[in-house]
Amino acid sequence: MDKNSEYLHPEFETLNVSEIRDLQLKRLKDTVRHCMQSDFYKKRFLEAGISPDDIKSLDDLKKIPFTTKQDLRDNYPFGLRSVPLEKCVRLHSSSGTTGNPTVILHSQKDLDEWANAVARCLWMVGLRPDDVFQNSSGYGMFTGGLGFQYGAEKLGMLTVPAAAGNTLRQIKFITDFGTTAIHAIPSYVTRIKEVMDQVGVDPKRDTKLKTLVIGAEPHSEAQRKRIEEMLGVKAYNSFGMSEMCGPGVAFECKEQNGLHIWEDYYIVEIVDPETLEPVPEGEIGEMVLTTLNREAMPLLRYRTRDLTRILGHDCPCGRHHVRLDRMKGRSDDMIVLRGVNIFPIQIEKILLEFKELSTNYLITLTTDGDNDNMTVEVELEELFTDDYSRLEKLTKDITRALKDEILLTPRVKLVAKGTLPVSEGKAVRVVDNRKVYE
Ligand code: AMP
Ligand code: ZN
Repeated sequence: MDKNSEYLHPEFETLNVSEIRDLQLKRLKDTVRHCMQSDFYKKRFLEAGISPDDIKSLDDLKKIPFTTKQDLRDNYPFGLRSVPLEKCVRLHSSSGTTGNPTVILHSQKDLDEWANAVARCLWMVGLRPDDVFQNSSGYGMFTGGLGFQYGAEKLGMLTVPAAAGNTLRQIKFITDFGTTAIHAIPSYVTRIKEVMDQVGVDPKRDTKLKTLVIGAEPHSEAQRKRIEEMLGVKAYNSFGMSEMCGPGVAFECKEQNGLHIWEDYYIVEIVDPETLEPVPEGEIGEMVLTTLNREAMPLLRYRTRDLTRILGHDCPCGRHHVRLDRMKGRSDDMIVLRGVNIFPIQIEKILLEFKELSTNYLITLTTDGDNDNMTVEVELEELFTDDYSRLEKLTKDITRALKDEILLTPRVKLVAKGTLPVSEGKAVRVVDNRKVYE
């Protein structure tokens, strides 16, 4: 580890495009062969009438069928594994989804590679072993906790596993431990600043903060700028998803001109979410990822549902790993709010448990100040608006039940029957007015 080097893994980070393609082809062939250890992929290949020997070029990737979140659910919990269970040392499961959650298994080698990827990202934005890294992610199933923990330790930083919440304590750690870098979801950064203001801590005067890593949820360039000015730091966009390990998939470099996705770890395709055909380079489509170095549970052509576009292959930082635009949203109805994944159907399921409610509801997402919020409006089956205490209790009960299900507290508004808009055709359940997709 050369502290003065711009790169943690120069042998991979500075490959040119054709060297990257050669490495990808080699790793793809290995991965596909390895996938034949999994009951799921063995069957998939048989059904598609292909064998690993048919993958002779990167273009042949197209012959392989897509893998979806539904495949993970249908084969819950371990059906996609490519190694015996005794070789697996950890699993992560996705947050807040309906039905079976998705489960990703990791071998020790997978965890080491994951930590390497995260360490590489953190090094890329200038962090070094003498930095103090505080992680305000939830630990546990959410990959932002352990994922950043092991990556930051691998880099050699003093790592503070502060975990989510308790903002006052969070600020005490920042000042007492001389924290120089924080990982946080963007909406939480604003909360930290609010509480700093309340207790009279000036981040520019009273802390050593210089770097923020923000991700796990969509946010805009404007939001990033505000965070940078508020705290006097540089804030870098971090993209990850549990199916691809977690954090460390794509990350901005110091140029802040898009997120480099590590092409020695993943093959990226951008496809039209309807036709599933590749879109011309530079156009927005759904990101499809193939893992290239996973052992326990490699995924081939995984439909991430995240919408983005390719910005370019070259960068003044000297890396040629492709740069992606910040995420533009998702092609399914999954909501990512404050880092938590929520499907509208989860909300519907809870609302239907209350006999006082009709089936007409509307979820509105808004940005209020710096916070993203959810409002759930739902029609009452019958009008009893004269009975305020009953209305109030019902609102409270619904709010609590929703919080138990989606792990966030929405605003609940009960409205009279016939008030909410009725659309022709497919019901519009979610209105996203957040100021994020630009
Ligand atoms: P999870 O698997 O729970 O970590 O959730 C992953 C999802 O969170 C992704 O598929 C994206 O939709 C979203 N996400 C993660 N990081 C970002 C980011 N930097 N910008 C926008 N969305 C993100
Ligand atoms: Zn760069």
